[in-house]
Amino acid sequence: MRLVLLGPPGAGKGTQAKRIEERYSAVQLSTGDMLRAAVAAKTPVGLKAQPIMEGGGLVPDEIVVGIIAERLEEPDAAQGFILDGFPRTVGQAKALDAMLSEKGIALDAVLELTVNEDELVKRMETRVAETRAAGGTVRADDNPDAFRKRLVAYREQTAPLSDYYRGTGLLKTVDGMRSIDEVSTAVNAALDG
Ligand code: AMP
Repeated sequence: MRLVLLGPPGAGKGTQAKRIEERYSAVQLSTGDMLRAAVAAKTPVGLKAQPIMEGGGLVPDEIVVGIIAERLEEPDAAQGFILDGFPRTVGQAKALDAMLSEKGIALDAVLELTVNEDELVKRMETRVAETRAAGGTVRADDNPDAFRKRLVAYREQTAPLSDYYRGTGLLKTVDGMRSIDEVSTAVNAALDG
């Protein structure tokens, strides 16, 4: 299974990616997780990405394209992958197309989780409250200001990817506002169908 997951911040992409990972043999590749690891390790990429991520903006295409190109070379990705948070711009989607065609492989599907934006802000606030209550660390970009900027970045730069992938016949859309289990059932039906 070679899959792209699309959906705004807080739509549940990460949660669904983990379930898809278990059901199909495919590894979850999250550029957000990779960038957060680079920030924590204070690598040159991390130092460059940190202020952009904290402000809710998008890290430049060449950085994330480079990260994904390297990651797709790892042996575990040969089994299949779920791209979670990449591509996020049409430029990244085109770079991905080029990378895959060079390898002689193609995507099986692009799954979009659709949401209600007002509900997303509430979800983010609940996630922050639950994380704090459990003594966990809250993401630096999980605050109302950065979250709103992430939503704007999604609307302006990532939402056009729905049309991009609809044009290729790969796009499948699932309502992401239902419970995790209900979304998961709909996701499986979309991927199996
Ligand atoms: P995420 O965990 O997917 O919500 O990503 C967190 C942050 O990492 C985003 O708000 C961006 O600043 C950055 N980021 C993650 N993936 C990408 C990408 N594909 N392109 C640009 N920036 C990204």
